[in-house]
Amino acid sequence: MSLNRRQFVASSVALATTASASRLAYTATDKELDVIVIGAGLSGLESALTLEENGLRVRVLEGRNRVGGRVYSLFDVPGNPEVGGNTIANAYGRCIAAANRSGVEVVNLAPRLFGSRLGQEFFLGGERVDTRAWETHPRNPFQGEMRQKLPWTWSDAMFQKHLPFTDLENWHDPKHAKHDISVHDFLTAHGATNEMIDLGFNTNIAYGTTAYDVSLLQQAFSDYWQKVNRGAIMAFSRTGASNAPAGNTPVAQATTPGVPPGLLVGVFKGGNQRLPMAMAARLKGDLLLNQTVVAIDTTPGSASVTTADGRVHRAKAVVCSMPFSTLRNVAITPLPEPTQHKAIHTLGYIPITQFHLVAKRPFWENDGLSPGMWTDGPLGLVLPQRFGARDDEITSLTVWCRGLNGLYVDRFGVEAGKQLVLSEFARLRPASKGQLEVAATHSWTTDPFSAGDWAIFKPGQVTELRAALAKPHQRLFFCGEHTSVGSRGMEGALESAERVSLEVLTSL
Ligand SMILES: Cc1cc2nc3c(=O)[nH]c(=O)nc-3n(C[C@H](O)[C@H](O)[C@H](O)COP(=O)(O)OP(=O)(O)OC[C@H]3O[C@@H](n4cnc5c(N)ncnc54)[C@H](O)[C@@H]3O)c2cc1C
Repeated sequence: MSLNRRQFVASSVALATTASASRLAYTATDKELDVIVIGAGLSGLESALTLEENGLRVRVLEGRNRVGGRVYSLFDVPGNPEVGGNTIANAYGRCIAAANRSGVEVVNLAPRLFGSRLGQEFFLGGERVDTRAWETHPRNPFQGEMRQKLPWTWSDAMFQKHLPFTDLENWHDPKHAKHDISVHDFLTAHGATNEMIDLGFNTNIAYGTTAYDVSLLQQAFSDYWQKVNRGAIMAFSRTGASNAPAGNTPVAQATTPGVPPGLLVGVFKGGNQRLPMAMAARLKGDLLLNQTVVAIDTTPGSASVTTADGRVHRAKAVVCSMPFSTLRNVAITPLPEPTQHKAIHTLGYIPITQFHLVAKRPFWENDGLSPGMWTDGPLGLVLPQRFGARDDEITSLTVWCRGLNGLYVDRFGVEAGKQLVLSEFARLRPASKGQLEVAATHSWTTDPFSAGDWAIFKPGQVTELRAALAKPHQRLFFCGEHTSVGSRGMEGALESAERVSLEVLTSL
């Protein structure tokens, strides 16, 4: 099948919403190719565009039937909620620039978020807890002044009080090696009990599966990154206490009373996946979907990539944006040097599963509570999405199951998992019974093209593995959020594309 550019754009849009398999035309022969980019997420697409802008001939191979990777919008659910990358914030200069280059509008949600805050309900052991009475609640495990802290603020308070270093931008510097310990060890060293850590860190965790498997260095940098992004902390915080609605207020006009001046809680208009789709439409070379990479071979002067259908693609260099959680299933020849090999095979990834629910009737008006919830049960976090025409309209609810809870709900399988979520909802909120439908569900953990969500440095891994992680291996180069050092998430993906593009351009 041969497609012209206009057809290609149309087909990328269609592919985002359908499961149809598609293969786009080859426009360059292997002999003419300079670079093969593996992965059409933000980092792969940005690398491909930068290399093309510098005169190289590039082919992008993507395993899924859509572009965007961990940026994934549900175009068939009311409001187009996000399954992946949610919001950008003040320090996301590369994302804003990428949106400008691709003609995608950044919408600032801050006015809507601050204009109609709904708060979130707190459920513990199936019972609703009045947050005003938390300090004296019998299940409050915290001590002293920390008893005032709600579970989702406790660990941040502990980090602020006890973090042993302030040079957070250089979190990966070998001089901080002594802090490359588990968050669990850090918290217990400051008097925390297992009960406190379970409630105040492990429940609805943001990094790792439990406090045992995340390095204090990564945790500290991630918290710092949120602070750099000022109030946008709410939109991508470890509590997930965000509503992430869409609005139509341009970035420059975020002057609503009550909104911190200049605060950006940004999304890309029409759904975040519009950005990678628009970037893909700007590529000059091939973008081949449904191409699962199974092997990469490299020499000092060339490289090749083999896909599951047996086809071998050859070029002068390969840029690999695959998360290490999936790269570990790919045969790399020759093997990378031992530390990099170990990084590919052991870097951690947080388990996350989401359920997107649509309410037939706003049951929260019947029980008088906020639809948003922080629970210690299977529902994890429930985030109301406000992507409607009106600021206060709730278009869907997102259930975020993270860490051990994500692994737990995955064990049920899709259909039983949906039933679990609906019955748990009805248990906690009887008014929701019969009022909710599961419009979509996605496990990033069982998704073969992510096999987990964002990367987690386990204790000791920052010191042992980070420096070797993204080193070029002959003509094989690495990008992706897991390789970023100065930023995180979507911005980290673009940061890594900048670095890898320079590496490739200077080596060819
Ligand atoms: C639930 C969730 C919420 C998030 N919230 C935020 C947020 O609010 N703010 C923020 O900044 N970031 C957020 N992120 C993180 C952000 O989305 C990612 O860091 C970023 O999109 C990663 O981009 P990437 O290019 O590094 O990787 P990816 O997008 O994963 O791209 C890698 C590509 O490689 C492809 N691939 C994998 N294996 C193969 C194979 N064998 N063959 C061929 N192709 C393959 C994948 O399909 C994918 O397209 C969130 C992520 C998730 C999932």
